[in-house]
Amino acid sequence: MAVVWLDDVGADDLELVGGKGASLGELTTAGLPVPPGFVVTANTYRSFIEEAEIDEELFAAMDIDHEDSAELKAAHETARDLITNTPMPEAVRSEILEAYRQIGDGEAFVAVRSSATAEDLPDASFAGQQDTYLNVTEEELLDRVRACWASLFSERAIYYRNRKGFPHEKVDIAVVVQQMVDAEKSGVMFTRHPSTGEKQVIIEAAWGLGEAVVSGTVSPDNYVVNRANGEVETATIADKKTMCIRDSDSGQTVDMEVPNEKRHARVLDESEVGRLVELGELVEDHYETPQDVEWAVYDGEVYMLQSRPITTISEDDMKAKNGESKTSSDNDMLLRGLGASPGIASGRARIVTKLDHLDQVADGDIIVTKMTMPDMVPAMKRAAGIVTDEGGMTSHAAIVSRELGVPAVVGTSTATSTIEDGDVITIDGDKGTIREGEEPEEKQRQPVEDARPKTPVKPMTATEVKVNVSIPEAAERAAATGADGVGLLRIEHMVLTLGKTPERYIEDNSEQEFVDEIISGVREVAEEFYPRPVRVRTLDAPTDEFRQLQGGENEPREHNPMLGYRGIRRGLDNPHIFKLELAAFRRLYELGYDNLEIMFPLVNDAEDVIRAKQYMVEAGIDPDKREWGVMIETPAAALSVGDMANAGIKFASFGTNDLTQYTLAVDRNNEHVAPIYDELHPAVLKLIGDTIETCRELGVKTSICGQAGSKPKMVQFLVDKGISSISANIDAVRDVQHEVKRVEQRLILDSVR
Ligand code: PEP
Ligand code: MG
Repeated sequence: MAVVWLDDVGADDLELVGGKGASLGELTTAGLPVPPGFVVTANTYRSFIEEAEIDEELFAAMDIDHEDSAELKAAHETARDLITNTPMPEAVRSEILEAYRQIGDGEAFVAVRSSATAEDLPDASFAGQQDTYLNVTEEELLDRVRACWASLFSERAIYYRNRKGFPHEKVDIAVVVQQMVDAEKSGVMFTRHPSTGEKQVIIEAAWGLGEAVVSGTVSPDNYVVNRANGEVETATIADKKTMCIRDSDSGQTVDMEVPNEKRHARVLDESEVGRLVELGELVEDHYETPQDVEWAVYDGEVYMLQSRPITTISEDDMKAKNGESKTSSDNDMLLRGLGASPGIASGRARIVTKLDHLDQVADGDIIVTKMTMPDMVPAMKRAAGIVTDEGGMTSHAAIVSRELGVPAVVGTSTATSTIEDGDVITIDGDKGTIREGEEPEEKQRQPVEDARPKTPVKPMTATEVKVNVSIPEAAERAAATGADGVGLLRIEHMVLTLGKTPERYIEDNSEQEFVDEIISGVREVAEEFYPRPVRVRTLDAPTDEFRQLQGGENEPREHNPMLGYRGIRRGLDNPHIFKLELAAFRRLYELGYDNLEIMFPLVNDAEDVIRAKQYMVEAGIDPDKREWGVMIETPAAALSVGDMANAGIKFASFGTNDLTQYTLAVDRNNEHVAPIYDELHPAVLKLIGDTIETCRELGVKTSICGQAGSKPKMVQFLVDKGISSISANIDAVRDVQHEVKRVEQRLILDSVR
């Protein structure tokens, strides 16, 4: 049997049909209405490679140095050619086609999805790594199945398995073939309230196919249903401007305007809401845990397309309901600073004045230091908390500890002299306090789990909510927030960890090593988020930060490095390093990371943009094909965004850390002027507001990736102005998602009242 029907498989058949197949089968066999389909089993793929005797050659080709991009490419091409040039056995072909003809009217459009399986391996699905094809017809079906098989050996997949040490021969692939539902309406449903865990069903619904709702490009209607009596408590009807449909001629998915009479009309009637609630209860009972469901309505029938558990709600909310919240401690206050990374932690203080003291930092200690440095990252990972004398909310200590999920208090001025090495202390990274003594274990609160949204999926917002990442180690935690992508990946933190300046790499003739380091750091993040977009910024480290590295002695000495030789001005003045960065991006595109976007820092005008674009072209990156843009960090950039749009930028992202310091003439690292550093100053807001307006007129996307994007007031201002996306710190993503949703709903209400 080459294929099995979804009605005949369930959760226990993971090895035969892979993760996707098993979960759709489980829903089908539980009697829930799932569009009909079958699975070309993992055994079919296995027999295909074994009987054609290509298996040994296939696996032998994977024995490569995966960090060597040429070898990786060759391995991928060998595998692809072996699989796509080997004919499918006649019996398998006819079985697949026969099964296909039994779906719908025998000529249905189907979705063909890879569903990987990996016996005894921890992460069988390698999420998002294998191909999916939509709107497939009989003619293309067999090729698409083979393409799914071959996608098990994409460069990214080979790299991923080699790096994690997963044996290639243990990974198989099944392929799900399922009827596409020509949805008239679709959306998502949470069987419990996403934030509170209350027994309410929340439904979001829009016209047409689900893509628009899931990707957040349309504001859907929102229905809140009381599960105890089935009553719709609130129905918020959105202004639904666009919808996704399938073009009946081409079979492709296209966007269209919602016809006028439907724009403000309610999508779901009472009986459809009732049916959804009924299905929600069935699926929750079946899995015995709250679910997040994707659904569609076609020809009066409600179909379930996918269901995933909401695992985080109940526990946290139980705690909240039991009143287990943070209590203040009676211990003596030692010091105050800025709460830079949330969480409460107790531990033994380790005063670190020299790097060789880092060995003494044991698991669970609290690092107390003047200012953290990139070499400290391994010790920061072991630490329970971080305290610094210097620094503000955008300092190295603040950024890195937030990303690592380690509570931190920065800018205490005197911690290294006030606290004794070995003292037991408790730090509160929300309030910015340091107390003597230990807090009971249950009152300590690590923020790691806090980063995971309590909501099952992100609240559906038209404005995208992304996350900032500076160290690849934080990628997994950042991705777990459910953010829509990375709005800023700063590569200088990665480069500072290398121990040598980029110039020194060149002096040592190790250019390729430098390029490979960038590839490997960026790839870690791009991989974790794929296919969500990752916006990578070219180097922007002030010269004083490079000074501590080997080769740093040759960095120019500047009176004020913040106003000095950094960002794109350095890249353009001395392009050999800039070219290496672009070479790394080009290679990453070749490796399949088409989710990467390139962002240039500290540009002032269109001239900067035109020159940077020229280097992109010279590096073999097609500016028309790729997403690229600039940071708006200087008033000059804000005022010349129109010219930059004409030069081709596709997005402009507000770096408010710099935009504030350059607008108000307040050094962001100078504690003497810290009280007047105000990202919400009317002048800063005016520059931002005007830039958004110009960009909207010219079709350029706008976003924010400065620290202020994590502040509710800034979020309100930006959403009101119509920003396209907001990128927040890991710990703030969840709150920003909710804040965005709240503002968007207010805007919808205002427009209909
Ligand atoms: C900014 O200036 O707001 C920004 C995000 O860049 P950085 O903090 O790295 O200067
Ligand atoms: Mg900046």
